[in-house]
Amino acid sequence: MGRTNWAGNLTYGAEALAAPRSVEEVQDLVRGTARLKALGSRHSFNGVADTSGTQVSLAAMDRVTGFDAATGRVTAGGGILHATLAEALQREGRALSNLASLPHISVVGAAATATHGSGSRIGGLAAQVAGLQIVDGTGRLREITRAGDSDLLDAIVVGIGALGIVTQVTLDTEPTYDIRQDVFEDLPFARLEAEFDAIMGAGHSVSVFTEWAGESARQVWVKSRTRGELAPRGPFHGARPARCDTNPVPGAPAVNATPQMGVPGPWHERLPHFRMGFAPSSGEEIQAEYFVAREDSAAMIAALRPLGHEMRDALVSSEIRTVAADEPWLSPAARGDRTCAHFTFRRDAAAVARLLPRIEDALAPLGAVPHWGKVTAMPPERIAALFPRLRDFREIVRDFDPEGKFANAFTRRLLEAAA
Ligand SMILES: Cc1cc2nc3c(=O)[nH]c(=O)nc-3n(C[C@H](O)[C@H](O)[C@H](O)COP(=O)(O)OP(=O)(O)OC[C@H]3O[C@@H](n4cnc5c(N)ncnc54)[C@H](O)[C@@H]3O)c2cc1C
Repeated sequence: MGRTNWAGNLTYGAEALAAPRSVEEVQDLVRGTARLKALGSRHSFNGVADTSGTQVSLAAMDRVTGFDAATGRVTAGGGILHATLAEALQREGRALSNLASLPHISVVGAAATATHGSGSRIGGLAAQVAGLQIVDGTGRLREITRAGDSDLLDAIVVGIGALGIVTQVTLDTEPTYDIRQDVFEDLPFARLEAEFDAIMGAGHSVSVFTEWAGESARQVWVKSRTRGELAPRGPFHGARPARCDTNPVPGAPAVNATPQMGVPGPWHERLPHFRMGFAPSSGEEIQAEYFVAREDSAAMIAALRPLGHEMRDALVSSEIRTVAADEPWLSPAARGDRTCAHFTFRRDAAAVARLLPRIEDALAPLGAVPHWGKVTAMPPERIAALFPRLRDFREIVRDFDPEGKFANAFTRRLLEAAA
């Protein structure tokens, strides 16, 4: 039995797994290996982190290596997890602008797939990156910083593993802050559609959870800064306050989720939905996600609601989030503010394969863009057409990886389609 991704829906085709402990070891590995690919914390659901050769885990290079008090920037090894980074930052009195739903993922793997949290005024996590050190396909160590070449950084930061192995990452930080989470139940869809911007803009980060059944969404999670933001109290756009802590995944234990009920806590213990040290999400699952223009949010909801009945047996839960426009070339938010429809399905590949085309057809008129780390039924040609900078990205890949050492089935088909 081969090694699998975190969710177990994908068995990697890689022949070997290498675990270098230093930049020099990464360089030697790249020079001496015909095909290889960086592996993060294995949380992607598709073949983006796979290779026919050697997967390279930087799990041993997972520490903060520098903190610049003058700029507030933090530098860490290419294998660091958000959980490790966040704790180190909090000790320095610093914070990131946002986190994904779980802190268990690697910082570089998250950036490479344009992973995002929710926040109408906050870009994706790749936008936090101020610099990268990357071993390219020739074994050369390149340093790319926003100060030095901001366009090149935007070209490579959402790199889907195609350019090399990131051995070091530098991120922008801000002074630490506290967040409180308030959960509301039964948000009428009619109000969500009509008052979308007010609902999603009601805090630092807002998520709506739904199974697309009935006339209302099951929960709204509002994460508000304790300073400078007024947390909503009482009825919220027709939804009522939850009476106790919950888990956004129906039936999952509340203890696995970060504290709610308005109890303030540090940013890194409130922005993710799921707590480090506990199982995130539902486990045996498959995820898909699509991004549409913010102005199409109500149309997105109206397009998905009629599919609720069809999805009923396969869907664990859906999450609606927002992400602000950002600059990385392959970011789905590169062309403007976005709204995201996320789906956690049971790990039933056949059922998911039946549903994805239905969802993608429903969202096609809105030009929906799939998430780089999740599953999609869209052919590479259709995906390529959704990313205007993909052809330019292909040229950067040629420069960084002239022999195609980091190419895999996922990137090869995509970049060929961009021709
Ligand atoms: C339970 C769960 C919850 C999730 N929640 C969210 C969410 O809230 N928001 C969201 O947007 N996504 C979410 N995701 C998706 C997840 O964030 C992405 O799949 C992300 O890529 C995972 O990071 P990883 O380190 O596991 O990457 P992997 O799956 O290991 O790798 C992904 C890509 O990153 C590249 N990569 C990794 N490390 C390096 C490196 N050092 N150098 C160069 N390339 C590298 C790999 O080559 C590959 O191309 C979730 C996934 C799960 C399983």
